[in-house]
Amino acid sequence: MGRTGTTHPKCRAPLALSIPAWLAYLPSVTQHFDIAVIGAGLSGLLAASALGQGEPGAGRRVALIDAGEIARPRPDTRATALAPSSMRLLRRLGVQVEPAEPMVGMRVGEGDADTPWQFELPSRPGEPLAHVVPNAALRTALIAALPDTVQRFEGVTLSDFRADGAAALDLSDGTSLGASLVVACDGRDSAVRRLTGISVSRTDFAQSALVATVHHAEPHDGIALQRFAEIGAVASLPLPEEDGVHRSQIVWSDRSRAVEAAAALPSNALAALIDERLWSYLDVSAVEPGVQSYPLIGQRAASLTGERVVLIGDAARVIHPLAGQGWNLAVRDVAALHEGVTAAIATGQDIGTAGLLDYARWRRADETLLATLTTALSRGSLPGALRISRFGGLPGHARRVAFAITDSVPALHPFIRREAAAEGGKNPSLMA
Ligand SMILES: Cc1cc2nc3c(=O)[nH]c(=O)nc-3n(C[C@H](O)[C@H](O)[C@H](O)COP(=O)(O)OP(=O)(O)OC[C@H]3O[C@@H](n4cnc5c(N)ncnc54)[C@H](O)[C@@H]3O)c2cc1C
Repeated sequence: MGRTGTTHPKCRAPLALSIPAWLAYLPSVTQHFDIAVIGAGLSGLLAASALGQGEPGAGRRVALIDAGEIARPRPDTRATALAPSSMRLLRRLGVQVEPAEPMVGMRVGEGDADTPWQFELPSRPGEPLAHVVPNAALRTALIAALPDTVQRFEGVTLSDFRADGAAALDLSDGTSLGASLVVACDGRDSAVRRLTGISVSRTDFAQSALVATVHHAEPHDGIALQRFAEIGAVASLPLPEEDGVHRSQIVWSDRSRAVEAAAALPSNALAALIDERLWSYLDVSAVEPGVQSYPLIGQRAASLTGERVVLIGDAARVIHPLAGQGWNLAVRDVAALHEGVTAAIATGQDIGTAGLLDYARWRRADETLLATLTTALSRGSLPGALRISRFGGLPGHARRVAFAITDSVPALHPFIRREAAAEGGKNPSLMA
């Protein structure tokens, strides 16, 4: 596919037209960018948008590189629950996220309980717990918000990377690029991370998540449901209505074999099973085509930065989706990186070195907390620190409390901010 947007003015097009067979023998042409973002998933699109912005006409030059065609819709039927701070950041960057369904409360319960426990935890007056946005709509909005300073390289993969003074990147189509900073948004199997020599610790949960969109007779009223089982949980997230039909997104995490079996059911049987698991609150009547399953792992990179490299989103860590926080972590990654890069530019320093100084310190506390809690919740156990609550010794109650803490990240924000700012002294301005 190759690149889109502006091409190199002198060499590539004329040579390619007149003497294409010689191209392979010519020395490669290097374009230099301030920032190269590898991967145009949700994290890469957001990073390119945030980092490419600047004063009119003075935005940073950003290369956005992806193995696929960036604007082509992806087979992703998931929806993302965006924490209020993520929503604020998106709005600040001019990302028009629509449709977005406000989630105002939750009903949470254990597998054997007849009725769940309901709570509402508004983060700020008038602000819901989260907004639920279909990933396809989120992706479209992020692409629409990409500034002109972002040059796209599509249908190419990163094949080699060296950091020596500046970063040198070789792409699979023979293009060579230079960049002061490389932002790795290339997902859980990140090539940048591998080429930089950053190791990962990985946990195979031996679980998968079934993702389905269901229709139901009862309105969801903006309430999410979550029923924990011995392993995993079944959850519903409120989606916007379509043609007057009430809809919710189901994320059902369980042992992989159980998920495979559920995914293979005829859709009316799957609808009945989901309805029963969710206390029949919704009266689920149908499952939309496009049921998907995702194998679940937990993974953390040994370091969040390397020489002229920073890891963002799933390239940095993968957490269990049970608390719906994976991409919210990526949003906070981008906010922290934006802060560091902006400060480095303001003081005339190198963005590839000075821009990364506070990044790991800002991001580790948040990541550690959510990785620990979601792993524990997915296994029905809790880390020791949480057992000293007044519910200590009662795993069921403790689990609900832990979930309330994790999922209502707005309520957690003061803690995260304190932790994140403990050494840095201030918080990223995009997260204010
Ligand atoms: C079932 C499920 C439900 C979830 N629900 C939520 C939720 O409600 N809220 C939430 O916050 N999070 C949620 N998450 C987590 C969230 O979906 C992920 O954290 C997020 O999608 C990760 O995006 P990413 O851009 O970092 O990685 P990816 O989506 O993996 O994107 C990586 C990109 O890099 C490109 N790429 C890879 N290698 C190369 C290469 N060598 N060269 C060039 N390009 C390359 C790929 O083409 C791709 O576009 C959920 C996850 C799951 C599994």
